Amino acid sequence: MASFVSLETLTAPTSADAMREALKSSGCKSSSCGASGGPGDLPPEVWNRIKDHPCYSEEAHHYFARMHVAVAPACNIQCNYCNRKYDCANESRPGVVSEKLTPEQALRKVIAVANEVPQLSVLGIAGPGDACYDWRKTKATFQAVAKEIPDIKLCISTNGLALPDHVDELVEMNVDHVTITINMVDPMIGAKIYPWIYFGNRRHTGLVASQILHERQMLGLEMLTERGILVKVNSVLIPGINDHHLAEVNAAVKARGAFLHNIMPLISDPAHGTCFGLTGQRGPTHAELMAVQDACSGGVNLMRHCRQCRADAVGLLGEDRGQEFTLDQLPETVTYDPAKRAAYREVIAAERDDHVAAKADAGRTLDAAASDARVLVAVTTRGGARVNQHFGHAKEFQVYEASSAGVRFVGHRKVENAYCQDGFGEDATLDSTIRALDGVGVVLCAKIGECPQEQLSAAGIVATDAYAYDYIETAVSAWYAAEYGRPATAMIA
Ligand code: SF4
Ligand code: SF4
Repeated sequence: MASFVSLETLTAPTSADAMREALKSSGCKSSSCGASGGPGDLPPEVWNRIKDHPCYSEEAHHYFARMHVAVAPACNIQCNYCNRKYDCANESRPGVVSEKLTPEQALRKVIAVANEVPQLSVLGIAGPGDACYDWRKTKATFQAVAKEIPDIKLCISTNGLALPDHVDELVEMNVDHVTITINMVDPMIGAKIYPWIYFGNRRHTGLVASQILHERQMLGLEMLTERGILVKVNSVLIPGINDHHLAEVNAAVKARGAFLHNIMPLISDPAHGTCFGLTGQRGPTHAELMAVQDACSGGVNLMRHCRQCRADAVGLLGEDRGQEFTLDQLPETVTYDPAKRAAYREVIAAERDDHVAAKADAGRTLDAAASDARVLVAVTTRGGARVNQHFGHAKEFQVYEASSAGVRFVGHRKVENAYCQDGFGEDATLDSTIRALDGVGVVLCAKIGECPQEQLSAAGIVATDAYAYDYIETAVSAWYAAEYGRPATAMIA
């Protein structure tokens, strides 16, 4: 079994020395490997800007957390997948925002979270309306937070309509990452997504509305990339409307310098009261989403680890600690203490080097495997890039594709409830988990009981805890090599 450090062990001590001690006592050895922590395909100056951003770097999302503050409720467009009662669907799963905040309340909350969540690296404003339209509150929040916590990365998400009016101020405020939701570059398609926009002091509808929105989105994107700001483009995949169009969107935003393209599944449910929900417009299947993402490969780099977070989400992607930090639980006055975040970063730097070395080892393991098999492997993890969560506690599974070419992150699958409830397994939950794991061949977890293991097996899914606490790539490659890998000579013999 590989060395292991639990996330609790990493986050509980408050000094770097204490954290290092915790790592040692749990048997984790920092690598002596001198390999760079950055992906080989990015220039170092770009890697330095994204390496601690959980959304812009898939690797960073194992280690760093974001928080959204819901200070911007007003919006200037209507998307057919949004109901104003709910979070902005561009950046959140449907669900009411617990509370809207004033900039002063947001500052108090950000400081409280930074004192308690050492992984925090990014503050985002993703609505619940539009961060650029509700600009006064967005700007006041960023200015106040930057003064208190200068090293936190500031991020906004916008539909792009009001974006060109604020690019200069974004630059002045050192906002280095901007997300624009662009679902179309053809207004004919846009007209099926946007019933109206509000622009130039009046409401526009139909093709005119989509034409204006498209032009403003392209202008905003160009203005940002000209100024060196990293831009992520979100696109909501709407089957039958823009599924065959998103490769064109990918090419158009690539031509204008976008850094990342995040193609997200439409979430549609009549209960949400959205136009699409009420008209029966369905979201894509996992296979359809992957097919569209694959059709865009070769263009702008794709983000596949987005969790469509709430507009008030707090924590690592895939977890939401927002309910721990509601206003009624915050002290009236709170002072920022940088010690915990600084200590965490020091320890994580070594842990990431170790992970890089482990990934290189995993690649070598797969090089020795002579097989054409491609298998989807689901992993349960609480962070730290390791297989470190019990099957019964998992509310999401990270999915990797394993082949002799390598281990590739391809997405995640959420389940409504964890299998284990109050110490007992729930069969009904297991059925929905099995449905969520459609297409997956193997589940790697830290622990699993015989009963769920047998039921998964009956559904054609292998589940094992034999690789508990390994790095994910180490575990996946070792499983693959054990299953398919034989040295080439043995294959020939
Ligand atoms: S931009 Fe966001 S808040 Fe505005 S309608 Fe669209 S999804 Fe809703
Ligand atoms: S919605 Fe996606 S891009 Fe936005 S914070 Fe969540 S994971 Fe990151």
